[in-house]
Amino acid sequence: MSNLPVQSFQPPLRILMGPGPSDVHPRVLAAQARPTIGHLDPAFVGMMDELKVLLQAALRTGNEMTFAVSGPGSAGMEACFVNLIEPGDTVVVCVNGVFGGRMKENVERCGARAVVVEDAWGTPVDADKAAAALKANPGAKALAFVHAETSTGVESDAAALCALARAHGALAMVDTVTSLGGIPVLVDQWGADAVYSGSQKCLSAPPGLSPVTFSPRAVEALKARKTKVQSWFLDLSLLTAYWGGGAKRTYHHTAPVNALYGLHESLVMLHEEGLEASWARHRAMHEALKAGLQAMGLGLLVAENARLPQLNAVIVPDGVDEAVVRSQLLARFGLEIGAGLGALAGRVWRIGLMGQSATPRHVMACLTALESVLGAKVPVGGGPAAASRALFG
Ligand SMILES: *Cc1c(COP(=O)(O)O)cnc(C)c1O
Repeated sequence: MSNLPVQSFQPPLRILMGPGPSDVHPRVLAAQARPTIGHLDPAFVGMMDELKVLLQAALRTGNEMTFAVSGPGSAGMEACFVNLIEPGDTVVVCVNGVFGGRMKENVERCGARAVVVEDAWGTPVDADKAAAALKANPGAKALAFVHAETSTGVESDAAALCALARAHGALAMVDTVTSLGGIPVLVDQWGADAVYSGSQKCLSAPPGLSPVTFSPRAVEALKARKTKVQSWFLDLSLLTAYWGGGAKRTYHHTAPVNALYGLHESLVMLHEEGLEASWARHRAMHEALKAGLQAMGLGLLVAENARLPQLNAVIVPDGVDEAVVRSQLLARFGLEIGAGLGALAGRVWRIGLMGQSATPRHVMACLTALESVLGAKVPVGGGPAAASRALFG
């Protein structure tokens, strides 16, 4: 053992502008480095109660069942499906990218039938097609869709889709992993029933926690189950006894104590900035990035009316090897952007402007680095100058 060549891990300094994780503010990192205390310690229980209020504010909901699942966004996704969907149920699932496909996978693993409404990658969910599917499948338990499809950079109309679900007596299940904090997520106003998110996108906390909220309707559906939730760990009826227990909280699992300090701090920061101000900042940084990309002759995949500000799918110019560009950005500048997934592999880069990575510093660094790496391969230069004009006039 004494010969094992190991030492402390020192991660390199990076600028994170991919599809998540985003840059984590030193305040959040400092919060996570504070002393670990017991998860049933009254001081910790008080922090958890505050965290719940902060999550309700960020999600714009009064839902009592609002908390953070101990696990990444995928665990939040799974928590929503295993708690609400039983064998034999039918769920209409909208698929317009990678994450909609994962929702379908979850439905099927619950022993339910997925009716898939498919839309092309790079376009939003077509509400008319979703309506037709609900009409053709009366009694469908839920309508599931991704609000912000991170694989393509597309926003779908969550208000319209939730209204459709309501009109058909189906639960509205919404993935807001990439939207929360970056664009409006209005859980109560939409009438959404089961909503999950993630800590490492626009909330800019480290990965590993998934905010989840259930409406009273979803809680009723959970109580009315005929079968036990097949996952003991994600069974929300057990988890709420833990999160909602206050001083009487009993042991379910050991909460990731320090990770929760981090999420708490990131939500305090969001609260200090204000939700609307955060949405406006993401929009403004997207406008600046777009101006810079346009000046360089680089186009965006998604039509203007469905574009997410926090996830920009940039079309790779002809004759450019996208992977070489990404590895040079990382090697020369420590700057990370994302590759295309699935149908878009090799065709787009995904530039994230999420949370703490949505700043003028990031926009300028990204455009300068891109111009350096692309060199003569882009028709014209001037990306950073155009972004600077958009930001500062
Ligand atoms: C990142 C992401 C997820 C999965 O979150 P993890 O934390 O990676 O498990 C789910 N849905 C969407 C839309 C995402 O962007």
